Amino acid sequence: MSKKKNLGPATRLAAAGRRAEWTGPLVNPAVSRASTILFDSVAELQAAKPQIGNYYYGRAGTPTTWALCEALTEIEPGAGGTRLFPSGAAAVSAALLMVLDAGDELLMVDSAYAPTRMLCDTLLRRYGVTTRYYDPLIGAGIADLIGDRTKAIFLESPGSLSFEVQDVPAICAVARERGLVTLIDNTWATPLLFPALERGCDISILACTKYIGGHSDVMLGSVTVRPELVPKLEQTSRVLGQTGAPDDAWLALRGLRTLDVRLRRHGTSALTVATWLADHPKVARVLHPALPSCPGHEYWARDFLGASGLFAIELRGGDGAARDRLIDSLDLFGIGWSWGGFESLAVPSDATGRTLPRPPSGPVVRLSIGLEEPDDLIADLEAALEAYP
Ligand SMILES: *Cc1c(COP(=O)(O)O)cnc(C)c1O
Repeated sequence: MSKKKNLGPATRLAAAGRRAEWTGPLVNPAVSRASTILFDSVAELQAAKPQIGNYYYGRAGTPTTWALCEALTEIEPGAGGTRLFPSGAAAVSAALLMVLDAGDELLMVDSAYAPTRMLCDTLLRRYGVTTRYYDPLIGAGIADLIGDRTKAIFLESPGSLSFEVQDVPAICAVARERGLVTLIDNTWATPLLFPALERGCDISILACTKYIGGHSDVMLGSVTVRPELVPKLEQTSRVLGQTGAPDDAWLALRGLRTLDVRLRRHGTSALTVATWLADHPKVARVLHPALPSCPGHEYWARDFLGASGLFAIELRGGDGAARDRLIDSLDLFGIGWSWGGFESLAVPSDATGRTLPRPPSGPVVRLSIGLEEPDDLIADLEAALEAYP
């Protein structure tokens, strides 16, 4: 294990989760679909345990899902285990249900993914959990918000839509001192660009739907935790009855093998496009964590190992309708939710519903830069901006 620690991320990605007992003589595990697992005797049936690597019942997984769980654990330094969930949103819900009890207070970053907020404002509220939203740029100031009932702090960095980068180490240091659990939605960076547990978080959540899958053809989520939280994660996954399907896990494993090279391409292309946009007279501001115009850029520069392909621009002048026409006029960008696939996407992005607004200076477009040639994407954007507003 200590030998494995020193391997670079691309090397770890190539080997992660590929146990010979799961793959046989093949390079990859097969898609093992199962509900019933057959045992040779009642004694063996009764001795079986629903854990990774043990056949038990379909919901407890097969070599396909075990391989992905183990791979995601191996690429997250400091992790003790991983469980899969049917979507990123399901992974967020499960992780929060795992740590919260009735009567607890949750500190939730104000820039969180909208369905995460919705969970807090509906189901968690009904179950007696109160949520306090905090400014993503609060840093160590989070200490002032902690009360007797505060149980956990949820982070997302950079934030969905508004892209503030958080001072994760500072927030996690306060949490540790006060005995709170920290959870982070690390979908934007993945462990390759932001090793979340190493930076202080206890629980790292990924929408594998995005960069892990990488091909816009799978819905899957994961929760990866420190070793001491593994039993609680196993129990939560079991009682919620939520698992990742073997076919989806297989697609995610296939995506995982090329994650390093894809993220590098997404990252350099997105930065090329973002830098070009930053100089355009019709762009007021570029919200890209690697550019100084992004709130919290200094934390990105200090804590991240790179940038992925998702960012936003604030347009100068115009209104929502003009912005929507601009998006409609793009040739190479698809219009649709999600991101992290090989194809570029553009969507209107209005960070509404926030409790502590940091209002944009103009209409916002969110861009997911895919694996196309950046020069072609720039030419497409140039033509669309020409006609704006
Ligand atoms: C997409 C997304 C999710 C949810 O993932 P799904 O697989 O679509 O449910 C969670 N967090 C962030 C930051 C996302 O972008």
